[in-house]
Amino acid sequence: MHYVSPWMTPELDTFRSAVRRFVEGEIVPHQERWRKQQHVDRDLWRKGGEIGILLADIPDEYGGSGGSFAHQSIVFEELGYAGDMAFGIHVHAIVAHYLLNQGTEEQKRKYLPRLASGEMVADIAMTEPGAGSDLKGIRTTARRDGDGYLINGSKTFISNGYLADLILVVAKTSPEEGARGVSLMLVEVRDAPGFRVGRILEKMGQKGQDTCELFFDDVRCGPNSVLGGVEGKGFVQLMTELPYERTILGVAGVAAIERALQLTIDYTRERKAFGQALIEMQNTRFVLAEIKTEATVARTFIDRCIVDMIEGRMDTVLASMAKYWISDLQCTVVDRCLQLFGGYGYMLEYPIAQMYLDARVQRIYGGANEIMKEIIAREL
Ligand SMILES: Cc1cc2nc3c(=O)[nH]c(=O)nc-3n(C[C@H](O)[C@H](O)[C@H](O)COP(=O)(O)OP(=O)(O)OC[C@H]3O[C@@H](n4cnc5c(N)ncnc54)[C@H](O)[C@@H]3O)c2cc1C
Repeated sequence: MHYVSPWMTPELDTFRSAVRRFVEGEIVPHQERWRKQQHVDRDLWRKGGEIGILLADIPDEYGGSGGSFAHQSIVFEELGYAGDMAFGIHVHAIVAHYLLNQGTEEQKRKYLPRLASGEMVADIAMTEPGAGSDLKGIRTTARRDGDGYLINGSKTFISNGYLADLILVVAKTSPEEGARGVSLMLVEVRDAPGFRVGRILEKMGQKGQDTCELFFDDVRCGPNSVLGGVEGKGFVQLMTELPYERTILGVAGVAAIERALQLTIDYTRERKAFGQALIEMQNTRFVLAEIKTEATVARTFIDRCIVDMIEGRMDTVLASMAKYWISDLQCTVVDRCLQLFGGYGYMLEYPIAQMYLDARVQRIYGGANEIMKEIIAREL
């Protein structure tokens, strides 16, 4: 069965080949070292900027590569096929989309070209020790002071936290107004007095990704730091942009499912037991047939989501379905594949073991899957 995603074109094939070469040359050889140091090399960001994969779907007038969501999806797919969970382009691109869709013209011109080139690395800081799913409970504040703002508070579990120069901080500009008092603040943190990166957190998987605690103690930012220029719009901006993040997680999840399947087909063809290859046993064949079917259903569904994104009609409910259903499936598929590797599946030198550890968090971050179901259920 040969299936080609309906959004693929010859131009995108060429782009995919270029991304694959980059991933094979600049990422795969360093993955083990990055896992040990808990972050990628800073230089990788500049190299990614040079070949135009950091902001593949941001218009060229803002320094992006001028492609569509198809281009950006190819970047995430190729990272997924190589088993990379360290290079935080996902979060970086998410911040760029907040800027593109919600920022003022001045903010776009100031930051997007620097994010596209890799001169600046971005992250988004929503979660706090006391507030994750329930973001209304955040305590970080951005108070007016002189002609700017002072940021105070702490954030945790922040991807790209160690390397980031620009942080989109979810903060209360008017704490007394509840959800309506929340704003997204653009904070330049490189050498900023009062800003401190805590530990790079030790995770069960995705070890090459710098997930950190961040501390803000009277960190000063300028008068034009509120995303979009108007205070109190934070929650609306989050609701508008979260579907982009959730679709990306779906794209990466399908790539992981496809990779796990292929690795397992290859392994069970080679491995012999009871005088035959594992793939000749009925159980193996049935498990792989089921996973192939599930992978095809997931691919067809995510392709529909990608087309909706390209055409600008993705909605919150569909993005939540993609995030929840694909991440659940990813965990099940990787677990079933691992079983077919026997003891070797439990050894970290086998990619399937790494994939098992990397997959688990997909059901938690980007909005826990229970929150996705709440969003879907609200529209029933
Ligand atoms: C590796 C990693 C990277 C991350 N990167 C980032 C990042 O870059 N930026 C950022 O801001 N955050 C990031 N996060 C944080 C992540 O988004 C949160 O962990 C997530 O939103 C859940 O919040 P919480 O951990 O506080 O769990 P809680 O909110 O305490 O929820 C715990 C569990 O309770 C259940 N639950 C909660 N609310 C409901 C509900 N309404 N109905 C039913 N069940 C519910 C769910 O099962 C949930 O998993 C990251 C987390 C990890 C682990």
